[in-house]
This record gives sequence, structure tokens and C-alpha cells, in this order.
Amino acid sequence: MRVSKLFTKTSKSAPSDEVSKNAQLLIRAGFINKEMAGVYTYLPLGKIVLDKIINIIREEMNGIGGNEVSMTALQQKDVWETSGRWSDDVIDVWFKTKLAGGSEIGLAPTHEEPLTQLMKNFIHSYKDLPVYPYQFQIKFRNELRSKSGLMRGREFWMKDLYSFSRTQEEHDAFYDKISDVYLRIYDRLGLGELTYKTFASGGSFSKYSHEFQTVSPVGEDTIYVHEGKKIAINQEVFNDEVLENLGISRDELVEKTAVEVGNIFTLGTKYSDALDLTFTDEDGTSKKVFMGSYGIGPSRLMGVIAEHFADDKGLIWPDNIAPAKVYLVRIGDEAAVKQADALYDELTGQGIEVLYDDRDVRPGEKFADSELMGVPVRVTVSDRLMADNKYELTERRSGETNLLTHDELLAKLS
Ligand code: ATP
Ligand code: MG
Repeated sequence: MRVSKLFTKTSKSAPSDEVSKNAQLLIRAGFINKEMAGVYTYLPLGKIVLDKIINIIREEMNGIGGNEVSMTALQQKDVWETSGRWSDDVIDVWFKTKLAGGSEIGLAPTHEEPLTQLMKNFIHSYKDLPVYPYQFQIKFRNELRSKSGLMRGREFWMKDLYSFSRTQEEHDAFYDKISDVYLRIYDRLGLGELTYKTFASGGSFSKYSHEFQTVSPVGEDTIYVHEGKKIAINQEVFNDEVLENLGISRDELVEKTAVEVGNIFTLGTKYSDALDLTFTDEDGTSKKVFMGSYGIGPSRLMGVIAEHFADDKGLIWPDNIAPAKVYLVRIGDEAAVKQADALYDELTGQGIEVLYDDRDVRPGEKFADSELMGVPVRVTVSDRLMADNKYELTERRSGETNLLTHDELLAKLS
């Protein structure tokens, strides 16, 4: 991609009403635009990063048998009344509106009810189970406070997968499997070391649910971390009983603030009871489907990553989700243009993603933008470097700079 073709621009300052560091940086770098508190537009570079996060999650969900769907944001009231969750006393973040005819509808804050209802069309026999539909969907929640940028949106991206199993044993096996897959996702996003599988409150079908909490000074949750076992306990369930269950003692734990970046939950037959989702088992009897739900917040993750991987110059994206691998800076006229164009073609020809700064602006501005945007590697082509047959390569993370020949550069980048 050529920077001259990007309609977005970087800026030195963020809107004065934006208090979160992640949104300030992302706005300044031209990745997102603030529409109102908790509501952000993804601009071209931000959309690339969000899509990369989503694609990593998608690959992992498909790897454990997920079937991707895309459900509607508009929700009929009936199905939510049946489960008892239409009331604002039960879900206090509903956005509701009316159809032209006057009937009330809602904007989905989550999808347990409509999906359970949908699956009634497809689940009849034990042969239809287990199944794992999932989606990436914008959820709407009228959050009371939305001051954490992408980390707490009023409309935000969620990956929600729901499991439909014959038995609790079948469910438990999948639950353990997806738990491991979640940890792999955070690893691939560069958050592995900071993220803990965390015991949190469960429901009537399991004592605990599990959250995935990323340690962050701006987190809203308090967790107690066991470094040796790489697990944590959410403050909400932190008591002698949980310590005993886990066989750990209080003095092995460290208190930290963290952000919930995902959770997995055993629903049991809560929704299949409410909406009468049954199947005929092998022995001919009718049974309720055993369910689970598994959420991850791609947009919250983007905020957490932007917040954590940054310095005073700007963003520092992990390689896997950076908007490009290389930021190519061109300094000089005809000869430099020719060499930079050729390098751009060569790198992109090899499948290497390049953001090519082909603008006629001062070199300092190009360098500053490459740092603000957080592209992992910067390569410079200039008249001075060409005289020595060299390219300059600078790593965003370490700031390390090296002068390389063409072949050395290619070897390093491919
Ligand atoms: P929180 O306690 O932070 O409000 P939650 O328990 O309401 O989270 P879930 O309903 O389990 O969250 O949603 C699944 C995932 O969606 C969360 O783990 C989180 O990553 C993400 N998420 C939830 N609310 C938001 C939000 N307002 N903005 C961005 N992401 C969110
Ligand atoms: Mg919430």
C-alpha cells in the first residue's frame, strides 16, 4: 500500500475529550476515528489490524470444528422474553428501539437466545450433535462508563461461539479443548506472557467459569495470580474454598489489575430449558441439549495491545497483527524513486506487506509517522545510502539500525 493513496493522516494530538491511551494513540496514528464515547470507526489501517486479529481467532475456531455464521443485530423481543432476559433489570445494557409499526426490538448485546432458537431448526437427533456455531459480530451495550477507548465500547466486536453437546462429559472435553485454544490465540497475538486463565463465578451447572485476563494497569478487574501454575483467581470468587479446590495458598499469589479479554462459560441446559431445545438420544428418549458459550473481544484486544505495546513515539505492533511488516521510506528524487519503486515491487511480489511512504514530505515526518504507526521494520532508500549500495533497516521495537546490502535485506525480510 502506498501512503500517498491513504486518505487518513496522522496527527500530533488526539481529541481533548479522549482520555484513554489506546484510543489517543490509535486516533493520532490514523487507525480509528472517534464518533462518540465508546463508538469508534475503523479506518483503513485499523481495519487491517482488526481483521488480522479476527483472522487469527477464526483459524483457531475453525481448527476445533467451529461453523461460522453471521447473526442479526436486530432482535425480536419474544425470544428474550421467553428466557426472561428482555427486562432492563436483568440486562441493564440493552439498546432498544421501535419498528415503524410500533413494535419494540433490541440491538443484540449477546446471542444466546436467538442462536438457541435458530438451532431448534437443525438439532433433532443425537446425530446432529455436537455442533459449534460461532460468529464475529458487533454487539451493542449501553455501558454506563465508556472511557477506556476500544477496551470498553458501546458497540464493539465480539467473537461468540456456542457449543451444543449431548452430555456434560462431551461438553467438558470441548471446554478444556477451547480453553487451550484460547491460550494459543493470546500467544499468537503477543499477549501470551501477560494473560492468565482465571477462575471466575460460574452458574448452576459449574462452580466456576473461566476468564482470560490480561494484566494491565488500566484494567478494571482485580485478580490473584499464581505465576508457577500460570493461573489466576478473580477477586469475585477469591476465598478459602477456591484456594483449597486449587490446592494453593494465599501467600503464593500476587494481586494484579487486569482486563478480561475472553471468557468461557458452561451454560448447561439454562437456555435449552427456557427455549425447549431438545434432541432424541440413541436410546429413543428426549433430552435437553447441553450448552456452553465462549466469548473473545477482538476490538478490546486491539485496545489492550495498542495500550501495552507502545512508547513515547507511538504504537509498536506485534508482527502477527501489524498493518504491514515493512514501512518503506523514500528520500530523494528520480534515482531514489526508481530504487524504492523496485524494492516495493520486489517485496510485495514475495508476499511481504509494505507500507510505502512515497509522499513528498520531509524525511523527519516519514520517520515519525513510521514510528507512530508502529510498523515492525522500517527500510530507508536514499541517495546517500545508494552511493554505498546500502539500505537502512531499523527495528521499531529495539530501535536497532543496520546498513544492509540488497541481498542481506532480502534475507532479513523473507
Ligand atoms: P466486562 O466484565 O468487561 O464488562 P463481560 O463479562 O460483560 O465483560 P462478556 O459478556 O463475557 O463480557 O463478553 C465476551 C467478551 O467480549 C469479553 O471477554 C470481552 O473481551 C468483550 N467485551 C465485553 N464487553 C465489551 C465492551 N464493552 N467493549 C469491548 N469488548 C467487550
Ligand atoms: Mg460487561
